[in-house]
Amino acid sequence: MKRKPETTSIHGLNHEKLKPEDPLISPEIRSTVFRHHPDHKKRGDQYTRNENPNRAELESLIAALENGGQCAAFSSGMAATAAIFQSLNPGDHVLIPEDLYHGTRVYLNQFMKRWGLEVDSVDMTHPKTVEESIKSNTKLLWLETPSNPLLLITDIETISKIAKRKNCLLVVDNTWPSPINTRPLEFGADLVMHSSTKYLGGHSDILGGAIIAKEGNEQFEKIRQIQKMGGAVPSPSDCWLMIRSIKTLPHRVKAHNENAMALAEFLENHSIVEKVFYPGLESHEGHQTAKRQMIGFGGMLSFQVKGGADDALKVVNASQLIIPATSLGGVESTWEHRRSVESEGSITPNNLIRMSVGIEHVDDLIADLTEALSKNLS
Ligand SMILES: *Cc1c(COP(=O)(O)O)cnc(C)c1O
Repeated sequence: MKRKPETTSIHGLNHEKLKPEDPLISPEIRSTVFRHHPDHKKRGDQYTRNENPNRAELESLIAALENGGQCAAFSSGMAATAAIFQSLNPGDHVLIPEDLYHGTRVYLNQFMKRWGLEVDSVDMTHPKTVEESIKSNTKLLWLETPSNPLLLITDIETISKIAKRKNCLLVVDNTWPSPINTRPLEFGADLVMHSSTKYLGGHSDILGGAIIAKEGNEQFEKIRQIQKMGGAVPSPSDCWLMIRSIKTLPHRVKAHNENAMALAEFLENHSIVEKVFYPGLESHEGHQTAKRQMIGFGGMLSFQVKGGADDALKVVNASQLIIPATSLGGVESTWEHRRSVESEGSITPNNLIRMSVGIEHVDDLIADLTEALSKNLS
């Protein structure tokens, strides 16, 4: 029987029988070089840019959690993203959502257009628009659900059927839900990408990225080559620490889900809040789709305060507990005025605060929110 995520995150797929006195935890193997076999031919670990035991263990763990067959670990989420786009050819066309991780848009516009990729953004939440935007040279559809920062929900299964029919690859950036809340390969995605810097790492102290595919995915083989030759690989120490972090992932994510749901409900009833974006709320446009493809609704939410940028900034700077900081997925709650940190081309509303809800006690978070929001009233 297939193990549950709470078990897999601790034991991986480790069916290997260890011997008495073997260490319970794999040691960190920092060596960059490994001894040859006598004939110098047999492949195995030879050189750490190509393969390393800590990285192999991390990759098999993440693949298992996503219900995939293979995984390539990278030194950051952006390195993983870059490898996916570099695996395409000049002249290929890609479709991205209007509302996506800002770095991905900037990377495509500043670098991949020069490489010869054609890029268009569409409203990914509307399957008909997506289908109509596919051209003869479209090779890849990219989606993020919930999206950043508006928490839009895209139906992965519907888009994956369109992608199959049109012979395109479907890539899902699954950073926000983590494999505990959504497993896109089960809904037909070809590749899953992660910034493991976020929930997988979970403690705001490791950068990392990953790409996961089912077994026998040809595009993945190209990506594996880019990983080894491009060399944007995580260090053995970062792999070791990431494996350690992932052991508590399912329990952390459950706590993030619960706290975010409670805060979303609190905010929805607050007089100075204009709108809350959280897929767990019945009022959220994508709630029904989210219920079908998400196990929990995640730790990320956004809300608009009444007023403009100044009013939103006043709120984020008034908290005692919630830290004004970027990024997400840590055990500590953070928030930011998103428009101020996004550069050119941002479509984020000016009065929007994006919050990464941590796993502190919910009463303390609500007390802090109450206090900070009251500052906006004056
Ligand atoms: C952070 C993030 C990335 C980029 O990952 P890095 O690890 O910062 O390079 C990509 N996509 C999403 C959704 C993210 O939140």
